[in-house]
Amino acid sequence: MLSMHLRYLCFTLFVAIANLVVANTKIDSLMGQLSLLEKQRPSLSLAQTRHDLGEQYRNDGKFEKALIEFTTGFEYAKTLNNLSLMTDCMLGLAKSHQRLTRFEKALEYYTTLVTNYDHVIEMEQKGFIYSQISDIYQNLGENQKAYEIQMQALQISEEIADTNGIARSNYSLASIFYYQQQYDEALSYYENAYRLGQLVDNGRLIYSCLAAIGSVYEKKGDMEQSLHYNQRSLQMATEISYSFGVAYAYGNLGANYWLLGEFKKAENYYLKSLQMKEELGDKWGAIGGNYGLGDTYISWGFPDQAIAIISVGLELSKSIDSKPRLLEGYKLLSDAYTKKNDKDLAFEYLSKYVSLKDSIINEKTVEEMGQSKRRYEIQKREQEIKLLKADNELFEKNQKIQNLRNYSFGFAILLLLVASGWFFSRNKLHQKMNNLLEEKNAMLNHKNDEIHIKNEQLAESNENLSQFAYVASHDLKEPLRMINSYTRLLERRYTGLFDENAKEFMFYITDAVGRMTTLLDDLLDFSRAGNNKVVSELLNFNDIMFIVKSNLQVQLGELNATLVAEEKDIPAINVNRTQLIQLIQNLVSNGVKFRGERDPVVTVDCVPKDGMMLFSIADNGIGISDENKPKVFEMFRRLHTREEYAGTGIGLATCKRIIDHYGGDIWVESTLGEGSTFFFTLPAGTEEPVLA
Ligand code: ADP
Repeated sequence: MLSMHLRYLCFTLFVAIANLVVANTKIDSLMGQLSLLEKQRPSLSLAQTRHDLGEQYRNDGKFEKALIEFTTGFEYAKTLNNLSLMTDCMLGLAKSHQRLTRFEKALEYYTTLVTNYDHVIEMEQKGFIYSQISDIYQNLGENQKAYEIQMQALQISEEIADTNGIARSNYSLASIFYYQQQYDEALSYYENAYRLGQLVDNGRLIYSCLAAIGSVYEKKGDMEQSLHYNQRSLQMATEISYSFGVAYAYGNLGANYWLLGEFKKAENYYLKSLQMKEELGDKWGAIGGNYGLGDTYISWGFPDQAIAIISVGLELSKSIDSKPRLLEGYKLLSDAYTKKNDKDLAFEYLSKYVSLKDSIINEKTVEEMGQSKRRYEIQKREQEIKLLKADNELFEKNQKIQNLRNYSFGFAILLLLVASGWFFSRNKLHQKMNNLLEEKNAMLNHKNDEIHIKNEQLAESNENLSQFAYVASHDLKEPLRMINSYTRLLERRYTGLFDENAKEFMFYITDAVGRMTTLLDDLLDFSRAGNNKVVSELLNFNDIMFIVKSNLQVQLGELNATLVAEEKDIPAINVNRTQLIQLIQNLVSNGVKFRGERDPVVTVDCVPKDGMMLFSIADNGIGISDENKPKVFEMFRRLHTREEYAGTGIGLATCKRIIDHYGGDIWVESTLGEGSTFFFTLPAGTEEPVLA
C-alpha cells in the first residue's frame, strides 16, 4: 500500500515546501532582477535568471511555473548557444515534468539530454539522469527496463565514485525488487543504501532507507521489526525537519497498526499522514494515504467509508495517470464492495484490476526480469566457471602434456639409458666374455701347449723311465743272477759247515734275491708294456689260453687252483702276443693269489663287443672294496702287507699300461669276500691280419 517510490519522488518537493518562506523572498528578488533584464536584449544573465527562477519554483513545488521559467531560460540559452545552460534548463524541465507525473515528457527530456547533450553533461549528472529514467520506468510498470537502466546508473556512479549516486541507485534497485515482492533482495539493497547514506551523512537518505526497511519487514510479516524501523524513520525525519518524511512515517505506522488489527491507531496515523501530504501537495502520497485509510475501514467493517476514501485516491491516481496507483485503487474498491456484498461492483473492479494488472505488470516481464538477473549471474558464474574450467583444463592439459613430455622424456631417457645400459652391458658383457674367452682361449692354448709340452715331457720321461727301468732291471738282473748263483753254490757245497744261524742268513739272502728278481722282472715287464715298438698280431683266444694254462700249470697245481677258459669261436685279437699273455697271466695269478677260504677258481672269457674284444677274468677270492677299486691300477699300490700277500704293486699298473697302449679300457667289479672280475677291452682283429 505504501509506495517507496512515492516517498522518494517527494524528496525535492519537501525541500521546496520546507523553505517556502525563504523561497518566496528569493522568487521576489529574482522577479525584480528579471524585469530589469527583460528591458535589455536576451543575455546570459537573463537565461541564467530564468533557470534559477525555474529551480526556485520547482523547489517550491510550483512545477507548472517552473516549467515556464525553464522553457524561457532554455530558449534564451539556445539563442546564445550556451549548451551548459541549455542542459541545466532541460534538466529542470525533466525534473518538473517528473514531479507532475508527466513521465512521457520527463523521459523525452532526460533521453534528449543523455543522447544529444552527452558531451556537455557531467558524469554525475548522467548517473542521476539514468537513475531518474529508471524511476520513471518503474512508475510506468516497466520494471525490466527500470532495472537495466538503474544498473547503468549504478555503473556510472561507481565509475566516478559518486557515493550519493551509488546510494541512490541502490535505493532505486531495492524499490524495483520491493515491487517485484523480492523482499530479501530489496532488503539487501536498502541496507546498502542505508550504510552509504550514513557514510555521506545523507539524513534524508537515511530516513528513506529506515522507512523502506520498515516496509520490507512489514511485507515479510515481521511487525516488530517493521514498527521498530518505522519509528526510527519518524524520529529521523523529525530530527532533520523533513515533513515529507514525517508524513510518510505516519503512513507507514498506520499500515503497521492496521495489520496488527489496531484500527483506531491505524486510522489516527493515516489521517495525520494524509493531512500532511495534502498540505504538501503530494498527490502520489495523498493517494497512498487514502488507500491506507480505506483499507483500514474495510478491515474495521466500514465499507462505505472505505469506498468513499478509496474513490478519492482513485480519482487522484487518474489525474496523475499512475497505473500502479489505479491498480491499487481497483483492487481496494473490489475488496470494499465485496465487504459491502455488492458482488457486481466487486466483480467489475476486480475485472478492471485484472486487465490493468495484465497490461502493466506483465508476469512474463517480471519473470524475465528475475530470469535476466539470474541469467546474468548464472552467465557470469558460468563464464567464471568456464574460464576457471578452461584454465584448469589448460592447466591440466599442459600438466598432462608436461607429464607426457616428462614421462616421454623420462621414458625416452630411461629407454636410452636401458638401451645404452643394455648395449653397454651387452658390449661390456661381450667384451668381458670375449676377454674371458680370449683369456680362456689363451689359457687353454697355454694349457694345451703346457699339456702338449708336459705330454711330450711325460712321454719322454716315461720313455726315459722305461729305458731306465729296463736298463736298471736288465743290468741289475745280471749281478742279481750272480748273487743268486753263488748263493745256491754256497748252499749246495758248504751246507754241512753252516750252523743254524748261517743257514737262516742264507735263507734271507735267497729270499731277497728272489724278491729282487721278481721286482726286476716286473719292472722290466712294465717298461716293456709302454714300448711302442711291440708288434700286434691276430691272436686266437683259445691258443692264448692254452699257453697261459701251460705257463701257470705248476703254480695252479701247487695252490690247488683251477683255471677255467672255455674254447671260444670268436674273432681274433689284434695285439702283441707277449703282452696279451702277460695281461691274462697277471690277472689270473692275482685271482689265485688273493684267494679266500675256498680253492681258487679263475674263469677267463672273451666276447666281441662294440668292435673290441671284451675279456673278463673272474675269481672267487677275497674281493676288493668299492673304495679301493680305482686305486688298484696305480703303480706300487698294494692293499695288503707283504706278510699277507706277496707282491710288488706293479702288476695291475703294467696291465693298464698295455691296454692304454691299445686304446682299450680296464676296470674291476667286485664284492668283498666273494671275488672279483677284471674286465678289459682290446682291439679285435680285422679281415686282413696285421702281420708283424
Ligand atoms: P701285487 O699283486 O704285486 O701286489 P698288483 O698290481 O698285481 O700287485 O695288485 C695290486 C693290489 O691289488 C694287490 O696287492 C691286491 O691287494 C689287489 N688285488 C689285485 N688283484 C686282486 C684280486 N684278484 N683279488 C683281490 N685283490 C686283488
